[in-house]
Amino acid sequence: MVDTQIKARGIRDAKVLDAMRKVERHLFVPEGFVDSAYADMPLPIGCGQTISQPYIVAYMTEALRLKPTDRILEIGTGCGYQAAVLGEIVKEVYSIEVVKSLAEEARVRLERLGYKNIRVKWGDGYDAWQAYAPYDAIIATASPVEIPQKLVEQLKPGGKMILPVGSFFQELYLVEKTETGVREQAILPVRFVPMVHPREKEFNENE
Ligand code: SAH
Repeated sequence: MVDTQIKARGIRDAKVLDAMRKVERHLFVPEGFVDSAYADMPLPIGCGQTISQPYIVAYMTEALRLKPTDRILEIGTGCGYQAAVLGEIVKEVYSIEVVKSLAEEARVRLERLGYKNIRVKWGDGYDAWQAYAPYDAIIATASPVEIPQKLVEQLKPGGKMILPVGSFFQELYLVEKTETGVREQAILPVRFVPMVHPREKEFNENE
């Protein structure tokens, strides 16, 4: 998977390639999809959600230019695959998932796999996660129609954020926060599930 789908398409960051080799994707997909776990496509993970195509996971991870000391926020834990890839590279990963069952399953799965540096919370990504802010980098794997301001606020100056933006037509945006402002750049057309606004917020706000 790494050689034919990821290296061949130009991903060069050794830390990203190593992490993609190390995290076993078949441990993150539902039983019926284990045979296609390493295929070049997104896969369903239940609740109408998907695990992203491996190349896109690698592409977004590389674009953040991560360092081993970084603290990262992820919106859209899903099955926890992207969080695990990040967890191999950086010091701390905080990940928010709006679907309770997915958040709980991902938390259990990541614990079982031994990731002590990843914390998953059931919550609304639009609220971000103040307790551990500011973050060196932020990644969203669900698509809002515009860049959520709270996420920009919780990004460190000098930090990078990558996220899909749009509804039917989406672009991957790289957002860089500088001391003087914010630079936004559309870099790739993509297709992610929407970042939803939950109607009722009954999350545990103490997390
Ligand atoms: N990163 C995941 C891919 C998840 S798909 C992986 O590696 O498997 C996108 C996820 O975003 C879905 O699980 C969806 O439930 C979640 N999501 C959608 N809107 C959200 C919101 N407002 N806050 C947090 N998560 C959200």
